[in-house]
Amino acid sequence: MLDRIYTNSLDYLCRKRKFCDEYINKGTYVYELIRIIYIFLGVNLMSDSIKELKKKILQFRDDRDWKQFHNPKDLAISLSLEASELLEIFQWSGDDLVVAQKRDKVKEELADVMIYAMLIAEAYDLDVGEIIEQKLDANNKKYPVDKSFGNAKKYTELK
Ligand SMILES: [Mg+2]
Repeated sequence: MLDRIYTNSLDYLCRKRKFCDEYINKGTYVYELIRIIYIFLGVNLMSDSIKELKKKILQFRDDRDWKQFHNPKDLAISLSLEASELLEIFQWSGDDLVVAQKRDKVKEELADVMIYAMLIAEAYDLDVGEIIEQKLDANNKKYPVDKSFGNAKKYTELK
């Protein structure tokens, strides 16, 4: 998971600089070396990537003068509605829970949910990368690997 985040961050950085794509092929030692360097230096790369996304979302909102409608209550309602649209994709799907053919719909609704989540974070001046990391730390304490490995029980029931 972490590895994927860093790889994605590196991909992002490469796209920004149009460097790796042109000169360095994925899977080569040079690419891996740069990736490892970013693992050490790149704590903020994910955060940079999120900041870039946030900028685009706010630009979209501001181009339409929608900030006036974006109070936390309505944003939370909207997030919940989009989450319901995501759930709707699976309605009556029976045993077909993999629903690979629904991937495009999932992609859209998931993006809607995340956009609203970022707008709520913006409304409260919260750093998305930071709050996710804080929550992951808290979850790590709630669900220690030795007690929760392969175990779907809630943390209050872990022994
Ligand atoms: Mg939607």
